[in-house]
Amino acid sequence: MEEPTNAIIQSSLDALLEDESFLPSLTEQMRQQAFNSLSSILSTPNKVHKSYLRVPLDDGKVVRIPSYRIQHNDALGPYKGGIRFHESVNEEEVMNLAFLMTLKNALHNVPFGGGKGGIVINPRNYSEKELNMISRKYVRYFADVIGPDKDIPAPDVGSGEREMDWMMAEFKKIHHGTPYLGSFTGKSVANGGSLGRREATGKGVYFSFRYMVHDFLKEKEELLSSTDNVFAKTTLAAAHRPLKVAVQGFGNVGSVTAHEAYKCPLVDNTVVAVSDRNVTLYNEDGLNIPALIGFSSKNMGDLPTTEEQLAEAGAKAEIRGRDELLTLDVDVLFLAALENQLHEGNMEDIKAQIIVEGANAPTTQEADKYLSDKGVVIIPDILANAGGVIVSYFEWLQGRETRYDSEDEIYQKLVAQMKKTFDMILPQFYGDPFPLRQNCYIHSVSRISNVLYKQGKLY
Ligand code: GLU
Repeated sequence: MEEPTNAIIQSSLDALLEDESFLPSLTEQMRQQAFNSLSSILSTPNKVHKSYLRVPLDDGKVVRIPSYRIQHNDALGPYKGGIRFHESVNEEEVMNLAFLMTLKNALHNVPFGGGKGGIVINPRNYSEKELNMISRKYVRYFADVIGPDKDIPAPDVGSGEREMDWMMAEFKKIHHGTPYLGSFTGKSVANGGSLGRREATGKGVYFSFRYMVHDFLKEKEELLSSTDNVFAKTTLAAAHRPLKVAVQGFGNVGSVTAHEAYKCPLVDNTVVAVSDRNVTLYNEDGLNIPALIGFSSKNMGDLPTTEEQLAEAGAKAEIRGRDELLTLDVDVLFLAALENQLHEGNMEDIKAQIIVEGANAPTTQEADKYLSDKGVVIIPDILANAGGVIVSYFEWLQGRETRYDSEDEIYQKLVAQMKKTFDMILPQFYGDPFPLRQNCYIHSVSRISNVLYKQGKLY
């Protein structure tokens, strides 16, 4: 990731210091001191763990795979965040992602801190047996620092239920006799996971968009029409016409988001484009998303890339270059791939007026500023994609109580929790000149700072 954590946090800290409700009982000097401690606490992770996993491969060769677990902050509860399996993983990236988890959990009032893990591999290049060994080794190497009340990993890009099941099994073996169900979330349902966890991020991403342009607006249309806030104007303009939607990424997040957009009866959408690591598929009359999901689940997660494959999938589309999706003439862009997708090189060509961040950090700082200055509404990662970690929290609770909710109960609880966050942030957002991301950061940081202050750590 290109932008340093410090730059992101600094701008929200500056805004926080301006905010009179930040630690109001303190004298100016104490406030400044508290602010300095807060700034140093949040701009560096608490702990960085790095290991080279020693793994024997199927052909007898032994490799050492760099891996990380970074624990950013635990003021609000045990560290929490996914483990990314990707060849571009590096320390700085994991550090930034861990920091985003701290902010995400604080924003949605999830009682966890922030952490993140990473394993530097392309999982497509390893057999199932090798991936099992890599996952187990990860747990062995980091066994002392993870656990249900210390640090709770979950899936991220390149990992899923299968890896979490393997990891929990290894944790159980090492920590024989201690409660283990809460050590990992995102497990399969058979193995103590939660119904609805797999779809939670994508459903939450779509809910974020729908809530802003439909449900919230229905009640607050007057509020939005009476202000000259530029973001209110963008939202209103989107609310009363059919919208063309494009979804970047067709993995666990993108495919579910696209499916939600395809079937949602409340908003008049057409999903005109989806993309993955190989292609963009475009159809201005709308893509057959269920057919594409069917194809990708039979083809290692890939979308069709040829006319023959499209016919096999039962979908009609034009096949275009992978990155063409981003600059299509659409109203809404869901970013559900990797970081840094909108940047200085393409920001001037983005036509969407609403951008929803299903991935973490898909917009660089330059692109964020450029698009926000133009009045584009960006629903930021920590607000939009928190469905995964919120349902992880429900999974962790269910594991403690060995009592399980139905899929519908989980979904209802998920949207109730996200709605609460939106209802707290949106009136403020439409009333002040800051973009939504800034509003979210300020809120997260002030929640963390209040807790740190009460814990006596802000001197
Ligand atoms: N990896 C997901 C995220 O970035 C989920 C984390 C979790 O469930 O702990 O939010």
